[in-house]
Amino acid sequence: MRLSRYFLPVLKETPSEAQIASHRLMLRAGMIKQATAGIYSWLPLGFKILRKLENIVHEEQVRAGHIPMLMPTLQSADLWRESGRYDDYGAEMLRITDRHGRDMLYGPTNEELITDIFRAHVGSYKDLPLTLYHIQWKFRDEVRPRFGVMRGREFFMKDGYNFDLTKEDAMHAYNRHMVSYLRTYERMGLQAIPMRADSGPIGGDDTHEFLVLAETGESEVFYDSAITDLSLGERAVDYNSWDDCAAIVKEWTTPYARTDETHDEALFNAIPEARRKTSRGIEVGQIFYFGTKYSDAMGATVQGPDGKSTPVHMGSHGIGVSRLVGAIIEASHDDKGIIWPEGVTPYHAGIVNVKQGDAEADAACEAIYASLNALGLEPLYDDRDERAGGKFATMDLIGLPWRITVGPRGLKNGVVELTCRRTGESEELPPEQAIEKLALVYAGHVLRPSL
Ligand code: ATP
Ligand code: MG
Repeated sequence: MRLSRYFLPVLKETPSEAQIASHRLMLRAGMIKQATAGIYSWLPLGFKILRKLENIVHEEQVRAGHIPMLMPTLQSADLWRESGRYDDYGAEMLRITDRHGRDMLYGPTNEELITDIFRAHVGSYKDLPLTLYHIQWKFRDEVRPRFGVMRGREFFMKDGYNFDLTKEDAMHAYNRHMVSYLRTYERMGLQAIPMRADSGPIGGDDTHEFLVLAETGESEVFYDSAITDLSLGERAVDYNSWDDCAAIVKEWTTPYARTDETHDEALFNAIPEARRKTSRGIEVGQIFYFGTKYSDAMGATVQGPDGKSTPVHMGSHGIGVSRLVGAIIEASHDDKGIIWPEGVTPYHAGIVNVKQGDAEADAACEAIYASLNALGLEPLYDDRDERAGGKFATMDLIGLPWRITVGPRGLKNGVVELTCRRTGESEELPPEQAIEKLALVYAGHVLRPSL
């Protein structure tokens, strides 16, 4: 992409309404624009990152054996009356009446709709296990939408639902979700810690929230620092194996980690003092096992191996995709701007031409631009006729992990400058070597065509 042809409305001033770094930086970097309270337009740069996160979520869900689909945002109130949640949900639910006077709602979640699909089409235990999911906009009329996309009213969420014959099978689905979520967050360059949680209005016994540690998080968290040393890395996981998934879940749930809702002072004090940590966290996902709550209420049964009709065991599992954009920025920024992890960056490298219009500099930039594209990488070439200082500031603000700076002085010696956004370190090297280095950096990443 050439910046002269792009739509990147960066702001010079820091917007006064934004209280936290991610909200400020998303507005300043031209990623979002508020449409009305808690509802945002995703401008091209923000949209590109949202799509990247969505793709990672899809890839890891499909890898775990879960099946993608798409349900609508608007739902009929009748289904919610069956489960009893039409009244329970309260003012957070946006209720709408259509022209025929029928009660509708903008879905805050989809347990009822998916259970209705299941009961219409699945009748035998032979069709189980089954996990269906979608990534779709949700609406919750939050009392206090704030922090930009972190607590919006309209937000983008992955929600998945497992249907199993027994509690044991459903716990495998639970474990599979925990492992796939850990992989998802790791690919996004995030550490999200599973913490025992309270089940709230969805109901159920087994539930974990995933929290990213950040000072601006809304939850108070208590944990054993040993958990922050864990990582899946390149570990091969057999999602069909009960034992494989359960072992990983055990590893991540053995060290103490809880939010203020479930915190147990006595258990916490039993951890060696040096490892006892208190912090704040951003909830970026949650998994639930809730047994037969919805299948009982809505008659979702299958014929079991013994020929008897039995309600299915279910769970639901959510990832806050749009909130993650903010959470990643909270975890990865400095006073100059965002620092995207390589796995989610909207463009892989910036090219800054410090002397636009200089024949040699222009030609060198064009050649680098073409070579990076040929490798399947997406460079963002700042080809505007602007001061170098302004170009650097824009690159730092939008947070591309690597920058290649090209100018007549370096070119005389056959070199360009390659700068790492995270460390601020620069090295001078011939253009081909800079390109080779970037190819290496991104070798392990999934590259896909640009939106
Ligand atoms: P919270 O406690 O933050 O209100 P929740 O527990 O009600 O969230 P869930 O029903 O668990 O939310 O939804 C799954 C995920 O969707 C959450 O983990 C969070 O990442 C995201 N999410 C929930 N509410 C919002 C919101 N208002 N804006 C953005 N993301 C949200
Ligand atoms: Mg939650």
